[in-house]
Amino acid sequence: MRTTALITLIFLTNCGSNNNETIVSQLITHYKNIQLPASYAIAFDATYFTKYQSYDYNDVNGTTFSYVTEIDDDNKYAYNRRISNMGGGFAFDYITVIVGSEAFEYSFNKLWSGNIIDSINVEENYAFFKKDRVNRLNSARAKAFLDTPLDSLQYEFDSNKDEISIRKASQKDTVQFIFSLQPMRLKKIIEGNRTTIYKKFKPEGELSYATEFDELIDNELGSTHVITHFEALEKIDSEKLQLPEGYTFSKKENNDEAFSKIGDISYIIRDDRTRRNILFTKIDDQITVLGAPDSNELSERVLSIIDNEFPNAKISHVYVTHMHSDHIMGLEEYVIRGITIVADQFTMEGIKDYEPFQQSIATFKFKKIEDRAILNGIQYHYPKNGHCKSQGFAYVIADQIIYQGDFMQLSPKPNLIASTIIPEATSSFIERIYQEDLAVNTIVGQHQIGSEIPMAFINQYYQMHKGKNAK
Ligand SMILES: [Zn+2]
Repeated sequence: MRTTALITLIFLTNCGSNNNETIVSQLITHYKNIQLPASYAIAFDATYFTKYQSYDYNDVNGTTFSYVTEIDDDNKYAYNRRISNMGGGFAFDYITVIVGSEAFEYSFNKLWSGNIIDSINVEENYAFFKKDRVNRLNSARAKAFLDTPLDSLQYEFDSNKDEISIRKASQKDTVQFIFSLQPMRLKKIIEGNRTTIYKKFKPEGELSYATEFDELIDNELGSTHVITHFEALEKIDSEKLQLPEGYTFSKKENNDEAFSKIGDISYIIRDDRTRRNILFTKIDDQITVLGAPDSNELSERVLSIIDNEFPNAKISHVYVTHMHSDHIMGLEEYVIRGITIVADQFTMEGIKDYEPFQQSIATFKFKKIEDRAILNGIQYHYPKNGHCKSQGFAYVIADQIIYQGDFMQLSPKPNLIASTIIPEATSSFIERIYQEDLAVNTIVGQHQIGSEIPMAFINQYYQMHKGKNAK
């Protein structure tokens, strides 16, 4: 009697789980049978919604990166083209090539790094591209996840939705894969605070995958992804694997001094680690720093250089050009010292709203400036442009030097070379100089390290693209 009851109980329990176990076995078999090509071509767009890289932090627009990648797994060759469409027409167009024992990358349109080629690690980069690219297919993620013994999987069946949710028993962090069953498709991955939702599935055929997916972070949309092309590849076109003409391999040494005087009142600090330039002006014993980018560590380095050089001077102001995170992240070091932040209304509001500053924002002191305002020998200009809703540059009147961030991204000497495009933000910047008849000698960019860019070169670059409209 007792034995019978026990047997019945075991039978009933197994009955339910047997059913689910069959479903999971079928899924495992389904994905085992899917053959993914080892050599392939893929094209996709990824759009990231980053508040403090947007045109307006109050109305987040996406930044789209377009990729074309080709993998030749027989030879271990790879070709990748990435066009980053940053606001203001900055289409940074980078090509990466891995061929034999060589791997290199360069800017196709010469924006950002001019005619430089950088050598990169062969094995690391090949492994990255091969894995990262195929993993954009939900079927590749599912196949890798289910390539495991059945008894290491924990699962829960939702008969209403005809879905099964599966976790790996051994996994420390919670990773959950959710599959629909008819047809069998990986629909969602939940990993910690990150959720991937797959959509727009290709019709069932030899290789089915989701052509779109969204990534949510803490339930907020972080990025959207669209796969426009995927197919098996015989080999990569040999032209794509060649060294481009007119480019030179970068030399690592930097001949420019970290700190130097570049005008009667202007000094430059070139930070090799972050590849950023800071300018500061000194009138009598009053110093204005232009730029507080990247991090508090960089600001500490800048402040200690100034302290060493001018122990008796007083830093009264620090200027930030626009509210993008990489241009304001170094502000707190200045705030601690009671230094006043110079900014326009919009940038000031952006700083006040910036999440990492919320603890200390009450201690921030601001000097609000309007377009064309002059303060301590510096005139501030705000030409309208598509990179940021309000973005300024500083014109040091006495030295005819401009300090700008994200209006222009040309690589300075010794690789100063015109890009094949002129971004809209760059045109707006140059046109403001012309309209206001500003006497300019050189332009210092916050990004990039090295020498300043002569205005004579900028005139030629503008002429080349804008032809007879140029001054
Ligand atoms: Zn920016």
